[in-house]
Amino acid sequence: MLHSLEKAPAHADQAVETFLSHGTRSPKEYGGTVNPPVCRASTIVFDNMQDMDARQEAIDHDETGVMWYGRKGTPTTFALQESIAYLEGGYRTLLASSGLGACIAALSAFVKAGDHVLMSDSVYGPTRHYATAILSRYGITTTFYDPQIGAGIEALIQPNTRVVYVESPGSQTFEMQDIPAIAECAHRHGARVVLDNTWASPLYFKPFEHGVDVSVQACTKYITGHSDALLGSITTTQDTWQEVRNHVYAHGLNAGPDDIYLALRGLRTLSVRLERHQRNALEVAQWLAAQPEVEQVLYPALPGAPGHEIWKRDFTGASGLMGLVLKPCAPQALRDFVDSLALFHLGFSWGGFESMIMPQVDMPTRNASQWPYQGPLVRLHIGLESPDDLIADLKTGFARLA
Ligand SMILES: *Cc1c(COP(=O)(O)O)cnc(C)c1O
Repeated sequence: MLHSLEKAPAHADQAVETFLSHGTRSPKEYGGTVNPPVCRASTIVFDNMQDMDARQEAIDHDETGVMWYGRKGTPTTFALQESIAYLEGGYRTLLASSGLGACIAALSAFVKAGDHVLMSDSVYGPTRHYATAILSRYGITTTFYDPQIGAGIEALIQPNTRVVYVESPGSQTFEMQDIPAIAECAHRHGARVVLDNTWASPLYFKPFEHGVDVSVQACTKYITGHSDALLGSITTTQDTWQEVRNHVYAHGLNAGPDDIYLALRGLRTLSVRLERHQRNALEVAQWLAAQPEVEQVLYPALPGAPGHEIWKRDFTGASGLMGLVLKPCAPQALRDFVDSLALFHLGFSWGGFESMIMPQVDMPTRNASQWPYQGPLVRLHIGLESPDDLIADLKTGFARLA
C-alpha cells in the first residue's frame, strides 16, 4: 500500500564507497532497473478512504517514503533524501530547488520577529544578502562575526540569539571555523547551529559529530557533480526535524524529480570524484605556493595554509575549491591572466568535473574582520583534468601577468 524503499542493508558496517554504490537502490521495485527511475507526480491517487487514512497516520508517525502529494516527494525524492541523511549522519533530509533555497530555509526556520542571528562574515554572498535585505524586513537582526572567532562568539550572543550560522571554509575566502567551540557556546545559550557544508560535502566533514544542528548542501556542486542541475538539501537532527520540516512544507519548497535523479546519479561516483579533486587540488596548490606571482594560497588542506590545523583536526578530506591571492598587479594584467586560460573556464559555481576560475572583482563584503592580503583574490575550482595540464595553463596565464 505504501511505497517504501526496500529495506536498505545495515549501512553501519559498510564503507561509504559501498553505500554510495548500493544504498537507496531498489531494482526489484522497478522491474530490475539499476537506478531508481524519475518518478513524476503531482496527484497521488489513493485506493480508498482507508488507504488515505493509513497514509495520513503513517505521516503523523513520521514515517518516510509515504506517497501523499507530489510536493512532498516521490520515490526519486525519497531515495536522495535517505542517501544524504545517511551520509551527513543526520536524522532526516529535505530537498529544495537550489542550494540557496536550502540555506535560507534552514536559517529562517528558527527565527521570528525580534530574534537575532549571528552569521559568519565569510558566508556565501546570497545568504548574507538574505539576512540583510529580507530577514531585516521581518524584524530579525543579524550580526556578522569574524569567522575565526571560535569560542569568542560568546561575547556576541544576545538573549534573543536563535541561530549561529557557520560556513567552513567560507567558499569565497576560505577561513576555517572552529565549529565545535562555536557550537558549544551556541548551545549553552539555546541557539541553533546551521552549517553550509557544501565545500567538504558530507564525505569529508561530519556536521553532527561536531555540534551542528542543521546541515545544508548545495547539491548543485559535488553531489550532482556535472554542472547540469540545481538542488539543495537540508539535513536535521531528530531534535530539529519537526520545526524545519514544518517550515519547509509551509513554504512549498520542493525539487523536481529530474534534478533529483541527476543528483542520485552523481552521488554514485562522489567518493571517486572527490578523491581526485583533492589530489589534483593539492598538487596545483603546492605548485602555486612556490610561484613568485602568488601572495597566498587559500587551501586549508595545504600544510601551512590558513586554517590548516582546524582542517586537520575536524575534516577527513578536502575538495577542489581554493582561493588564490596574487601579488598586487594592474587590473588589466589580471584580466589578461584570466582571459588567457584555456582549461579554467570563467563562470559561477563549481563542484562539477571541470576546472573553473572566478576573480573576486569586488572583494566580498566584510564588516567584522580584516582582510589581510593586498593583491587580487581569484577562486579556482580544480577539476578532474590532468594536473600537469592545469599547471601548464596557469603558467601561460602567469606569463600574461608579468
Ligand atoms: C553555490 C553555493 C550555494 C548555493 O547553491 P545554488 O544551488 O547555486 O543555489 C550555497 N552555498 C555555497 C557555499 C555555495 O557554494
